[in-house]
Amino acid sequence: MRKLIDLSHVIDPKNTPRKFHVETIGADSVNHNVVRLEGQWYIMSDITMVSHIGTHIEMPYHLFPDGADLATVDLNTLCGSAVLLNLKDVPAGQPITPPLLQEAIDRAGGIRPGDIVVCNLGYSDKYGTDDYSKSPYFTPEAIRMLVDAGMKMMAVDAGGVEVPRSETHVNHIALLEKNICLIENIAHLDDLPVNRFDLCAFPIPVAGVESFPVRVVAFVEE
Ligand SMILES: [Zn+2]
Repeated sequence: MRKLIDLSHVIDPKNTPRKFHVETIGADSVNHNVVRLEGQWYIMSDITMVSHIGTHIEMPYHLFPDGADLATVDLNTLCGSAVLLNLKDVPAGQPITPPLLQEAIDRAGGIRPGDIVVCNLGYSDKYGTDDYSKSPYFTPEAIRMLVDAGMKMMAVDAGGVEVPRSETHVNHIALLEKNICLIENIAHLDDLPVNRFDLCAFPIPVAGVESFPVRVVAFVEE
């Protein structure tokens, strides 16, 4: 039996750190050919939002004008075999260095070329609190290790993977220049009973947009 595990945070428009405004409107105000009877609940939503919100996925177009966007990204890179790295022992604000990363990789049984690498920093439950921004971060050398291991997508249960205050966005560049998309704010990693599983993260295909909230789902054999 395959079980689905939802690795996405719920976006509650009433309580978001960034703009996600939903205006409920009558369906007849969008499509003038439909009839909406007096008092009838027949709605659509007019949404104004920032693209990096909730559990979201970043495309190469975020930092490269010629990079793939949500519409042109290769879907093969957004699904497949995933490995979970347990990095929960790294203290808040501290760097994840190659030796620390190697320990986690060894505990997980290694990274195979083409893996999706999911990093559990233990921060899913801190989402929405002041502590969330104090998560550990990856050194450029650690990111390089993952890239060189053949990782095809990366996910982290934190606001990002970047070196704090990096003006060159060195870690984002290292990933996105290799067409390795990045999922930020992945959630519920402690619900995964195994450290190898299949994962899917397909955003809607919007041309000329670099990021979007995404429903990340793990498939686990029971
Ligand atoms: Zn982002």
